[in-house]
Amino acid sequence: LEAKEEFTHKTLAMDVMRPRRSDPALTVLTQDTMTVEDVEAIINETTYSGYPVVVSRESQRLVGFVLRRDLVISIENARKKQEGIVSSSVIYFTDHCPPLPPCSPSMLKLRGILDLSPFTVTDQTPMEIVVDIFRKLGLRQCLVTHNGKLLGIITKKDVLKHIAQMANQDPDSILFN
Ligand code: ADP
Repeated sequence: LEAKEEFTHKTLAMDVMRPRRSDPALTVLTQDTMTVEDVEAIINETTYSGYPVVVSRESQRLVGFVLRRDLVISIENARKKQEGIVSSSVIYFTDHCPPLPPCSPSMLKLRGILDLSPFTVTDQTPMEIVVDIFRKLGLRQCLVTHNGKLLGIITKKDVLKHIAQMANQDPDSILFN
């Protein structure tokens, strides 16, 4: 029991977050370089509930978090109702959009569906604290950063699984007792 308790206190956000070391990278969107088609491909190829938006793949600086369902609805609506939105339209999550060359397809501005301050913790945050934050703030997910760069994500289910592993109990009874 003692060994287990010690382990609980030592588990850090980086031990629970996804992706794991051997997994493919986190699926992110960039703020001003992806087309409607690019984003639709990501929506179709993954099942995640949401996607972090970053300044660029190189920088991995976090801009915000967008829910899958909001993306799906917004793109569907834009394709139906918005003049000039096609597969090659560039999606902008930025505040300001650059002037487009005359013949290029209309841009799709989606800043409105972006959560601009998603909850984040650093990779060294003890899981004890992460669990507490999830409980107190009722989070669905939390992003993990290192030196200001996005590293990973922890969802509520990841936290529940972690708690269940630690306590070997029914996860739901613990987070919401
Ligand atoms: P849930 O954890 O409720 O099933 P998701 O379907 O969003 O929610 O996530 C499934 C798993 O994938 C979780 O372990 C989560 O940490 C991870 N995950 C969530 N979003 C992403 C993402 N954008 N890129 C990579 N992994 C993700």
